[in-house]
Amino acid sequence: MSHDRSTCLFCKIADGEIPSTRVYEDDEFVAFRDIRPAAETHVLVIPRQHIATLADCAESDAPLLGRMLVLVGRIAKDLGVSYTGGDTGYRTVVNTGPGGGQEVYHLHAHLLAGPRPWQRMG
Ligand code: 5GP
Ligand code: ZN
Repeated sequence: MSHDRSTCLFCKIADGEIPSTRVYEDDEFVAFRDIRPAAETHVLVIPRQHIATLADCAESDAPLLGRMLVLVGRIAKDLGVSYTGGDTGYRTVVNTGPGGGQEVYHLHAHLLAGPRPWQRMG
């Protein structure tokens, strides 16, 4: 899988060059349904900015990372899968590098929710 911005799948999805089922977008982030969902709700949240992995993030990326995580919570709410007590809630996963199971080298957070069993972690 390429680490290069010009051939990056998620940059192309963010730019609309490759179609996706979007659930949210603003100037900074895009969220869309995973093409191979592991759970009933499986959404990927990405920054429009090309950052390959979480390991590439520095202190200066903290505000962006913070907003990204807050956005995951907001999208979970919008999709009706937020934590509202009882058995409700969702999982947020950021795979990093081959050792973490990362397949696409553009930073993304998985948002997973729904009845078990799930196909995989995210
Ligand atoms: P990773 O393993 O890198 O954390 O997750 C990459 C995710 O991207 C996988 O869950 C995979 O199913 C999803 N994915 C790969 N290609 C596409 C695509 O073209 N469109 C969408 N919507 N999801 C994709
Ligand atoms: Zn990219």
